[in-house]
Amino acid sequence: MEEQSIRVEERQDKKEKPKSEDLIFGRNFTDHMFVMDYTEGLGWHNPSIIPYQNLSISPASMIFHYGQSVFEGLKAFRTENGDVQLFRPEKNVQRLNQSNDRLVIPPIDENLALEAIKQLVAMDSDWVPSTEGTSLYIRPFIISTEPYLGVAPSHYYKFIIIMSPVGSYYKEGINPVKIAVENQYVRAVKGGTGEAKTGGNYASSLKAQELCEKEGYSQVLWLDGVEKKYIEEVGSMNVFFKINGEVVTPALNGSILPGITRDSVIQLLKHWDIPLVERRVSIKELYEAHQNGTLEEAFGSGTAAVISPIGELYWEGHHLVINEGKTGDISKKVYDTITGIQYGKMEDPFDWTV
Ligand code: PMP
Repeated sequence: MEEQSIRVEERQDKKEKPKSEDLIFGRNFTDHMFVMDYTEGLGWHNPSIIPYQNLSISPASMIFHYGQSVFEGLKAFRTENGDVQLFRPEKNVQRLNQSNDRLVIPPIDENLALEAIKQLVAMDSDWVPSTEGTSLYIRPFIISTEPYLGVAPSHYYKFIIIMSPVGSYYKEGINPVKIAVENQYVRAVKGGTGEAKTGGNYASSLKAQELCEKEGYSQVLWLDGVEKKYIEEVGSMNVFFKINGEVVTPALNGSILPGITRDSVIQLLKHWDIPLVERRVSIKELYEAHQNGTLEEAFGSGTAAVISPIGELYWEGHHLVINEGKTGDISKKVYDTITGIQYGKMEDPFDWTV
């Protein structure tokens, strides 16, 4: 396919930027956005970078009724010498197309999408904050815009990219979190949409999230949707456990989101010759490992925090305190390495940065 060139309309009245100490995740948006339309027959067309603005779409647009949409999340980082770099953006673009496939949304040209991300970041590069731990969060997403109330795939879509400067996730160093194992609600089942990054998965997670926060936990750990025996993932993170010297993570089974940070952690552990297996892990196995003292470490992985050590797991009346509630050695090493690569402070042997 011939590559389409991106039309650029620059904003004249630049917005005021928030101070880096006031950055709250996802509240402030940069000066520009990327938009591209899909019309049946014409395909994806008119890729444009325009001033950040509201959309005008019909209230009958299918996105408002049946939720046919997908999204991604990635970050741009400012390095010490002032450059701006992305972390594995091609992976996000590939995953966007995998989500598209599941939601019956026409695939996007991955090279064009990558180019759109790069050009948009370059255009708003003065929005990439430079204080320690801050970054520019990039949110590509696709919505169905056909004004029609029938349940069917839309014939019109919009692919949009917006960006938001975000503060440091850990203000006082990497901090362990408390996680509650969810026994009542489920996130996804095999054959469902758990593997795709689509809004409905997040809408259906809110109830359990609200309940766990009331009990003082930061996120829930989802079990499989059928037997409620096997570990799937945490709210917006994949999970890893170190049991008796070996790191285990739930194998991708069709209902778990294939995290890009998860893949990076796996590659790093292999690189360091740390034993790692992807397999089914039951909550009972974790409980027993905790009881016999072999549950040595647990952590979540995701774009937002990179690594979140798990200091406590709550399951059916049991408070499983892991590694005395402290950050474990592997969590720390993986966190330091990935953030070191992202901020250009460490060598990048995997060519992850762009
Ligand atoms: N699981 C879910 C449900 C998520 O929303 C995310 C965040 N995208 C992850 C896992 C982690 O994925 P990644 O490492 O690509 O951010």
